Amino acid sequence: MSRVYNFSAGPAVLPEEVLKEAADEMLDYRGCGMSVMEMSHRSKVYDTIIKEAEADLRELMNIPDNYKVLFLQGGASQQFAAIPMNLMKNKKAGYILTGQWAKKAFQEGKIYGEAIELASSADETFSYIPDCSNLDIPADLDYVYICENNTIYGTKYHTLPDTKGIDLVADVSSCFLSEPVDVTKYGVIYGGVQKNIGPAGVVIVIIREDLIRDDVLPGTPTMLKYKTQADNDSLYNTPPCYGIYICGKVFKWIKKMGGLSAMKEHNEKKAKILYDFLDQSKMFKGTVRKEDRSLMNVPFVTGNEELDAKFVAESKAAGFENLKGHRTVGGMRASIYNAMPIEGVEKLVAFMKKFEEENA
Ligand SMILES: *Cc1c(COP(=O)(O)O)cnc(C)c1O
Repeated sequence: MSRVYNFSAGPAVLPEEVLKEAADEMLDYRGCGMSVMEMSHRSKVYDTIIKEAEADLRELMNIPDNYKVLFLQGGASQQFAAIPMNLMKNKKAGYILTGQWAKKAFQEGKIYGEAIELASSADETFSYIPDCSNLDIPADLDYVYICENNTIYGTKYHTLPDTKGIDLVADVSSCFLSEPVDVTKYGVIYGGVQKNIGPAGVVIVIIREDLIRDDVLPGTPTMLKYKTQADNDSLYNTPPCYGIYICGKVFKWIKKMGGLSAMKEHNEKKAKILYDFLDQSKMFKGTVRKEDRSLMNVPFVTGNEELDAKFVAESKAAGFENLKGHRTVGGMRASIYNAMPIEGVEKLVAFMKKFEEENA
């Protein structure tokens, strides 16, 4: 068996320990005689799995009691609709556009009500986070929406917008559990787990209880009502059982590693190695404003498309997978999520140095 260094933006690298444990439990989960994939979601054994996953996530993120944790399906993209359907009481919401995922959510929001663009960094191909310290925010907005870490462009909010009292809704798909978070600053935090937590097929929604209402927009499907899911502890129908089980293992792995502050330290260390190299390189350049850099997704270019392609091909041959940039941006992107070991980044930088020397 040989494993590569996988820099995929998502689905992405998972802790090897977790994969091994899952492999050990594949045929017979702790004496049940069956795999977690094969058991009823109403069984006692599964009840323990999902409850423990929730308890561990609550502990990691220090989630207050007045927030519900939902394990849902449909990916982050389905939430682009679920959020306005559930939260648009005044049919008016503000969106800050920092990339493709925020734009998609904005477009979807427009289907259900008035979606207002509060700020945007489209003028410079989303290479920065707009100043959100004093936005013009109408007092009747139902929420202010952000994509907190922009997976494609490699930017992150290092300060949350001043929403002037309006509830903040954040897509944290690509920075979930990468650092400590103050949940009380948000009305809703949600994300697909396939970037930093588990296998595709699970989306986690953390929502303040007073935002879970019966008077959702007319036509909202039962399945998309947060109230349905909250009242049934995410078991209204069959949840993505196996995916939740793996998420639970990753939560335990993060706890063992020292929790979210330890994750942050580990992620800062990794990102610094790569950014420091980019900042002194004559060939490779980071593509975003320094103060808005993401710890998770690091896009870079040589400025020459042929050289980019050569780098991607040669890095792949050397055991570094998925370094090609997003199809809309080009160049390269290294996603260095929680489970990427520091050696992966050190070896990548050594490889980049060598490539720069050979192609100078
Ligand atoms: C990947 C990603 C999405 C889309 O996730 P799906 O689960 O495929 O719908 C949305 N937002 C962000 C920030 C992402 O990185």
